[in-house]
Formats: sequence, C-alpha cells, structure tokens
Amino acid sequence: DPRIEGIAASIRVVPDFPKKGIMFQDITTLLLDPKTFKNTVDLFVERYLGKDISVVAGIEARGFIFGPPIALAIGAKFIPLRKPRKLPGEVISEKYVLEYGTDCLEMHVGAVQPGDHALVVDDLIATGGTLCAAMNLLERAGAEVVECACVIELPELKGREKLNGKPLYILVESR
Ligand code: IMP
Repeated sequence: DPRIEGIAASIRVVPDFPKKGIMFQDITTLLLDPKTFKNTVDLFVERYLGKDISVVAGIEARGFIFGPPIALAIGAKFIPLRKPRKLPGEVISEKYVLEYGTDCLEMHVGAVQPGDHALVVDDLIATGGTLCAAMNLLERAGAEVVECACVIELPELKGREKLNGKPLYILVESR
C-alpha cells in the first residue's frame, strides 16, 4: 500500500530517549501531517470495518490517539486501559514485567461485557508485555480479543511471540 511509506517516513527516531541506548520511535511527528494521520487511521478502519468488533481498547497514552478515531469509524465503544490510580471507578489490574521493574494497567469494571469482541490498540509493540497485559484484562472481564493493532513493531524484540498466538496487525516495522 503506497500510504505505508509516508507513514514510515513521518515517524521520528530520537536516539537515547528516555535513556541512553534507546532509539525512541516518536509518532508525534506523524500527527503533524493530517493526511498521514488520516491514512494511518484509514488503514486500520479498512481492516476492521464490518468485522464484528464491539470494543476498541486503547492503551495509555498513545493508544488514546489512534484508538478513538478507529472506534468511531467502525461503530465500536472505546475503553481506556490506564496506568495505576488514574481511573476513578472500580478497576481490575494486571501487572506486567518491564526490563527494569514492573508496571500495571487498569480497566474499569463494567466497561466490557462477556461476549464483547475486542480490538487492542497501541502505537508500538516492543517486548509485547503491555499488549499481553491488556489482553489479560479484557479476557478476565469476559471479552474475546480478536486482534491487536499497532502502528509500529520492533521485530527484533519478538514481542509477537508473547501474544499467545493472537494475531497482531502492524503498519511499519522498525529496527
Ligand atoms: P512493550 O510492552 O515492551 O511491548 O512496550 C510497548 C509499550 O511501550 C507501548 O505502550 C509503547 O507506547 C511504549 N514504547 C516502547 N518503546 C517505544 C518507542 O520507541 N516509542 C514509543 N513508545 C514506546
């Protein structure tokens, strides 16, 4: 698809952020070009429209940028999966392991119902730990995860292998 090239070219790589040795993939530069931002959303919408998805779950923070326009376009509800102590209602939590230490995602109780069909959206998959925690939250609440969708995959980190065979759809691979 000719749109992919423009998307890849619009992502800025920032060396040594947030710490030395990390090549940070920065999607804020993609958002500066409305046509490229729209192409990004359109590619996801074209894949998921009519696919029986009832909920789009976006992961804080950049899943909140791409998830809602996809949800609106396909007629699904949107739910935010947030870092600890941000959601005001009753939550369920899922801890996951990072390179150094652990992190956690939370979801409001009642946001998804048993039988919901979910799409999980984030900007990027690295080790896959974040998407895995997101899927666990949704499945614990009785939803079926249909697929995970990210703009960028870092294939060298083999995060895909952590998704227990769940399909992952990505637009751009980065090294
Ligand atoms: P994982 O859990 O190792 O797959 O890391 C993915 C999570 O970390 C996602 O929520 C990303 O937004 C974030 N992340 C990791 N590396 C980058 C990066 O280079 N750019 C933007 N986000 C990143």
